[in-house]
Amino acid sequence: MQNPEVEEIRHSVRSLCAKYGEDYWLELDRERGYPTEFVAELTASGFLTVLIPERYGGAGLGVYEGAVVMEEVCRSGAHAGACHAQMYVMGSVLRHGSEAQKQAYLPKIAAGELRLQSFGVTEPTTGTDTTNLKTTARKEGDVYVVNGQKVWISRIEHSDLMVLLARTTPKDQVRRKTEGLSAFIVDVNEAKGNGLEIQPIESMINHHSCTLFFDDLQVPAANLLGQEGEGFKVILDGMNAERILIAAECVGDGRYFIDKASTYAKEREVFGRPIGQNQGIQFPIARCHAEVEAAWLMVERAARLFDAGEKCAAEANMAKMLASEASWRAGDVCLQTHGGFAFAKEYHIERKFRETRLYQIAPISTNLILSYIGEHVLGMPRSF
Ligand SMILES: Cc1cc2nc3c(=O)[nH]c(=O)nc-3n(C[C@H](O)[C@H](O)[C@H](O)COP(=O)(O)OP(=O)(O)OC[C@H]3O[C@@H](n4cnc5c(N)ncnc54)[C@H](O)[C@@H]3O)c2cc1C
Repeated sequence: MQNPEVEEIRHSVRSLCAKYGEDYWLELDRERGYPTEFVAELTASGFLTVLIPERYGGAGLGVYEGAVVMEEVCRSGAHAGACHAQMYVMGSVLRHGSEAQKQAYLPKIAAGELRLQSFGVTEPTTGTDTTNLKTTARKEGDVYVVNGQKVWISRIEHSDLMVLLARTTPKDQVRRKTEGLSAFIVDVNEAKGNGLEIQPIESMINHHSCTLFFDDLQVPAANLLGQEGEGFKVILDGMNAERILIAAECVGDGRYFIDKASTYAKEREVFGRPIGQNQGIQFPIARCHAEVEAAWLMVERAARLFDAGEKCAAEANMAKMLASEASWRAGDVCLQTHGGFAFAKEYHIERKFRETRLYQIAPISTNLILSYIGEHVLGMPRSF
């Protein structure tokens, strides 16, 4: 059933995105540019801050509404990777920040004066094995001194703040490996050149990811997010929202590919008839439509559970896996439908095809989701 408030959000986001046509995104992809104007307008319109409670200047809506925003952004042909983190990183501050931290950051984020777009977890030597990470934060008086390295940290050059995960107690001194990690809010502008070095990574998609080097970076103790040693929980809480929102983006990508493919299949004539009259073209598009719409149902279910404060890790993981696989298949079918023209950049398909591929690997890879379902949902033995 359609909810008029949600339909209003859909309509408004669609109108905003229409101002930034696909050529805008193609040009940014070519020059590796950042969509500053788009992100500013999305923020000023209140769509990027829908999850911030009204008392801090946001719209006070749920992850479901956030998912609708991200889905529409991707469906328009845009690349949401430039801005999506603002929604879910902020969730860690909202759930675990002190009142002083919330007062200091959230109203400014809602007003577009501060950007919280960066999330520093992955490391080059430990990858998915997060609890084994090597970056340390040592308490010295009223600061923590951070040393180590991170990789693939996106948007840091376009963010004022980063949520960083580091080990504060060595692994051999804690009962469980998930203990002894802590989360911090890092002021990126202060840190740059004072213990933080940033090196951009040239990559397959325009995601603004960087390698970070920490050399005695001092972070005020007041910037600890949540309790010392409980940072893994702080990060995990943000991750369910992240998975739901990214699943919604994949559904947006999938719907984009299906719209494009079905339109082209109706228009393109070869052998004197539309190619979509051939079942070899028509059926794969129809199958992708069914898969993408099924994935959206799982996104909706996960988002509703999240917003009700109920457990949703299984649903968030399943939504992310199903949606990322459905969008990839839809992209592949869209390419096949367009034949050789799919390879021409002006058709935009190859860019979206590269962009949507990421989501089977980041923020968590499909294997790790299958392992979660196998172990935590179905009770099979742990594999690692
Ligand atoms: C464009 C981009 C942007 C990113 N942005 C961010 C960011 O902003 N912040 C951040 O912290 N990180 C970010 N990441 C990192 C991303 O989250 C990781 O790349 C991802 O979690 C996978 O980790 P890895 O690359 O180290 O792969 P690895 O852990 O090395 O894994 C490699 C492969 O082996 C598989 N594998 C590993 N262990 C197992 C196992 N036990 N069982 C089965 N299969 C296994 C994995 O599924 C994967 O397919 C980004 C990555 C990319 C590419």
